[in-house]
Amino acid sequence: MRTVLIFLLLFASSGWRVCAEEAMPKSYDVIIVGGGIAGLTAAYYLDDFDVLLLEMQDQVGGRASSGQYKTISFARGAEYLGKPEEPLEEMIEELGLVLREVPAPADVTYHQGKFYYDELGKARLLINQSNLNTLNRFVGHLTDLYDSYDEIPELTLKGELARLDTISAKQWFTENNYPSIFHELFNVTARGLFGANLDEISALSVLPELAFDFEDFKGIENVSDLAEELSGTSGATEMYTFDNGIAAIPQALARHMADSIQTGTKVTAITKVDEEFKVTCIKDNQKQYILWADAVIIATPAPVALTIGAAVLSKEQQRLLGSVQYAPYSTVALFSNHPIFTKGFNLAIEDDQIFTDIYDSTWVASHFKENSDFTTLSHWVTLVYAPPSSFQDKTVIDLDDHELLARIYTALDMVLPGSSTKVIGHEITRYRYGLPVMVPGSYRRMIDLDKATGEGLFLAGDYLIYPTFEAAAASGQLAAEKVKEWLED
Ligand SMILES: Cc1cc2nc3c(=O)[nH]c(=O)nc-3n(C[C@H](O)[C@H](O)[C@H](O)COP(=O)(O)OP(=O)(O)OC[C@H]3O[C@@H](n4cnc5c(N)ncnc54)[C@H](O)[C@@H]3O)c2cc1C
Repeated sequence: MRTVLIFLLLFASSGWRVCAEEAMPKSYDVIIVGGGIAGLTAAYYLDDFDVLLLEMQDQVGGRASSGQYKTISFARGAEYLGKPEEPLEEMIEELGLVLREVPAPADVTYHQGKFYYDELGKARLLINQSNLNTLNRFVGHLTDLYDSYDEIPELTLKGELARLDTISAKQWFTENNYPSIFHELFNVTARGLFGANLDEISALSVLPELAFDFEDFKGIENVSDLAEELSGTSGATEMYTFDNGIAAIPQALARHMADSIQTGTKVTAITKVDEEFKVTCIKDNQKQYILWADAVIIATPAPVALTIGAAVLSKEQQRLLGSVQYAPYSTVALFSNHPIFTKGFNLAIEDDQIFTDIYDSTWVASHFKENSDFTTLSHWVTLVYAPPSSFQDKTVIDLDDHELLARIYTALDMVLPGSSTKVIGHEITRYRYGLPVMVPGSYRRMIDLDKATGEGLFLAGDYLIYPTFEAAAASGQLAAEKVKEWLED
């Protein structure tokens, strides 16, 4: 034993890097921590380098992972995308993935016993509860904003945009005299998309999302133009996924870069020795070992980055990371032998319920798979999305399974009477770090984080650009570019 110890000491002092339990002399150009879409995208754009991505779970994907029930894949987190732009568009093409546009009606709104289909249906509801001029004023407001809006890091935060970053969405709706139906409807949207309510999130974070929804809406001249929309017929939805869900992208990336990805490996600390990063990991919950790299990208939620990177993050990075707050989120997959909702892909329900949306997991596949439609399916998965009513409220992850399900069934039966009796099984997924909350000031924080450097230590993740799958991918590409510059310097 003593001989082994002396041998190890000699080995270490001779400049070789040795781990505590096994020899791992390999040093990488770049180590990436986290195999969500941000980390995977970073790895994809660094394929000219010697890269290793470490993911603590058994599979990559993070908040965009899928489960399986019999023949049906269902999302546990991210469900759909807007029309993909770079870098997602490029990766989808190069990986040979077939993108599916979600068939109409993609969005259904439930309000006081009635269903309203897609954006024009929602417009009809807003007009019914207010008037046409108010709706056209609202869409005009959104269009003006969208024209001057860019994503981080391109966004120039000045004038009205800078002001909108400092006020809550609720303040914006109130100061513009929008009636209560706007607050009610868009509070559901805000909770579902951001895990926070209109009082909590900045106007600047919500309005571009709403603008995107009303992008093709040219203003309605006459309410009768909307007569047909109640039946749910319109064509393009501009919402996209794949036959097996969004997880198709992380899964394809994992196959593409299999040699550079190590799953089941949790990073516990990153330190710096001379000019190299020392990355301490635990494999399969037992074996601790050390890897080395010239540069590191941390692509985990901000609180994890703050913990594992405490010794190497700059003071400014630590200050900014410490200010990122997260909304908890739970999703529940309900399994049945009979359909629960067959009228559209995403059903948004009234506010003040335990969940805001249900998604029909079979909606896309049943439209695109040959010989497959609702009549030939025998298994069904209905996804229930349960964000908190306030991001400070942990109820949706703290409730035990029994209570969570009981509250979900009550709301479900209110909207779709008798549907809870069809459920024969379920799977619950809880996210402590569901979504980074875009509180007032978050755009300023993101701009500052983009500029803050950690000398070879880079960050990626949705909290750096916007809390979506696509933005997380963009943050990964951005981190890859910064690493290339660093290594080539
Ligand atoms: C319920 C829900 C629904 C959503 N729906 C949509 C949607 O429909 N459309 C959309 O665009 N976006 C959606 N989003 C947002 C989207 O899922 C995220 O923005 C995106 O997936 C974040 O990717 P990421 O790579 O930044 O983080 P993550 O996906 O969280 O990836 C981080 C990875 O790091 C790993 N990790 C953490 N700690 C360590 C460690 N110490 N060592 C090693 N690995 C570690 C984690 O296991 C994880 O795989 C949704 C989010 C949630 C929660």
